[in-house]
Amino acid sequence: MTDNDLRNFIRDVPDFPKPGILFKDITPMLRSPRALETACRLLAEPFRDANVTQVAGIESRGFIFGSIVARNLGAGFIPIRKPGKLPWSTRRHEYVLEYGSDALEVHDDALESGDRVLVIDDVLATGGTLAAATHLVRGFDATLVGAATVIELSFLNGREKMGTDTPFHAVLRY
Ligand code: AMP
Repeated sequence: MTDNDLRNFIRDVPDFPKPGILFKDITPMLRSPRALETACRLLAEPFRDANVTQVAGIESRGFIFGSIVARNLGAGFIPIRKPGKLPWSTRRHEYVLEYGSDALEVHDDALESGDRVLVIDDVLATGGTLAAATHLVRGFDATLVGAATVIELSFLNGREKMGTDTPFHAVLRY
């Protein structure tokens, strides 16, 4: 299966969760063993020799892809979550997203010096979410290796929000 075949496993849902948003539904990809395996292999590919020690997955669809990528790369997994969900002491970063505003949190002790971190989510839209997550990672004494998503909505220019010093990889661009 190639990246082009993967496009058949993304369902466009108009006006979800708000009018005017074309939602990229990845559940058809999740329920296909081959599509899921291919998506996660292609997500991890550019970082295979980057000695990634921790994959940071963004709640909640980033948890699904992030944990499989972590397994593929022989790395650990750390959750980046919506406010109030993590039980230990946290660091927070606020941001604006395509539909509303939000904040992300990570455990204070999630990363250690020497960690090499790859941030994973399902979709890059306006880039606010991924930029917030990479900002949190940069706040630690660890190395941000890069960020990757299954889908990039390139017409929203989300890449720019992350800054050019973060290597970014998307499996599918729209
Ligand atoms: P953004 O901060 O605008 O880049 O939004 C990215 C986050 O919102 C990701 O966690 C996505 O899961 C979700 N998201 C934003 N826009 C879409 C969309 N059109 N289809 C599916 N998910 C989206």
